[in-house]
Amino acid sequence: MSQFNPADKIQDLQYFGEFGGVNPSISDSSTYTFLSAKTMFDTFEGNAEGCYLYSRHSSPMNLYLGQALAAMEGTEAANVAASGMGAITPVLLQLCGAGDHIVSSRTIYGGTYAFLKNFTPKFNISTTFVDITKLDVVEAAITPNTKVLYCETVSNPLLEVADIESLAKLAKKHNIKLVVDNTFSPLSVAPVQLGADVVIHSLTKFINGSSDTVGGVICGTQQFIDDLRNVNNGASMLLGPTMDSLRSASILKNLRTLHIRMKQHSHNAMYLSQKFEQDGLKVVYPGLESHPSHNLYKGMINPEYGFGGMMTIDVGSLDKANELMELMQNKNLGYLAVSLGFYKTLFSAPGTSTSSEIPLEEQKEMGLTDGLIRMSIGLDNDIERTYQMMKACMNELGIL
Ligand SMILES: *Cc1c(COP(=O)(O)O)cnc(C)c1O
Repeated sequence: MSQFNPADKIQDLQYFGEFGGVNPSISDSSTYTFLSAKTMFDTFEGNAEGCYLYSRHSSPMNLYLGQALAAMEGTEAANVAASGMGAITPVLLQLCGAGDHIVSSRTIYGGTYAFLKNFTPKFNISTTFVDITKLDVVEAAITPNTKVLYCETVSNPLLEVADIESLAKLAKKHNIKLVVDNTFSPLSVAPVQLGADVVIHSLTKFINGSSDTVGGVICGTQQFIDDLRNVNNGASMLLGPTMDSLRSASILKNLRTLHIRMKQHSHNAMYLSQKFEQDGLKVVYPGLESHPSHNLYKGMINPEYGFGGMMTIDVGSLDKANELMELMQNKNLGYLAVSLGFYKTLFSAPGTSTSSEIPLEEQKEMGLTDGLIRMSIGLDNDIERTYQMMKACMNELGIL
């Protein structure tokens, strides 16, 4: 791992604009001309390297952004998508057909959970949800029809850590693909370096970091990315979740500061989680020694980028959680909003928002309690000041 520094890989990529601009030019076109009819035919067949056909297939700026994200994950190639779900759903539909089976972590993004639970059964694709931290349970769920093992590096919202190296060995043993959603831990963890086959990000979160767009990416082998883009049977090409070139240009520019932002997100989240834990609050943060997977995660991350910007606190009840979030918002400590990776702290109660797709009974079983607040810690300059202000809010409400 120490050889592989994703931020250096991104930095090594240099693009110039058409007129020598320091940023690559945006190709503002949906379709492309060909000098000869023969080249157009070859491009359709996938044999004309460097030729553009139609922007749902590929466009120069989407390829630049894809290249940078492939460099970040250390994969051969990547395909950007219009949203995180626009990356996740084609991957699963590309890898699975009628009669196939998926083993998935039960603590995943609510939309992904809903897709696997409610949508893919229509195509006779079934999913078994498991506690991803229990390798024996994961292996026991694998059947001869299993095609995919699916998890998030750090799970949403419970911040469980998937042992990617061990899961990758399991996947290899059973000849299935390990697909990892790495949205919570860009730069910190590079799942393909640990043996995963496909890595997905919602670019909406830390990678873009400015909460002004949705976006996604799929990173994998050149073969897999070509398959997704295949004009005859590629799920990305045929389902059409294409990112717009203007958007990919703005995401590429924001990607340039990701390493600086991740360090600050991690620093601030570590600071707050340590302080609040000392104060006696129930805090979950992978950087805390009290986290059940602290040592595992410590061995997985690139320490430069830390344990990430996500933490949860449990304030006992949904009413208290709502009161606290409203008060913190009134004090301008952050926003009561879903999503994550913004400069500002964002908080929400996952049970009634981002994970509301998960039935209450199952929420309880996985430890998703009513009083849980998920926090995406912002880039605050003086985190001690933020801590004092948050603590004052908790004191006022009798939480601390
Ligand atoms: C937000 C999120 C997604 C979905 O991404 P969108 O860009 O909203 O489609 C998927 N996985 C995780 C972990 C997320 O946080």
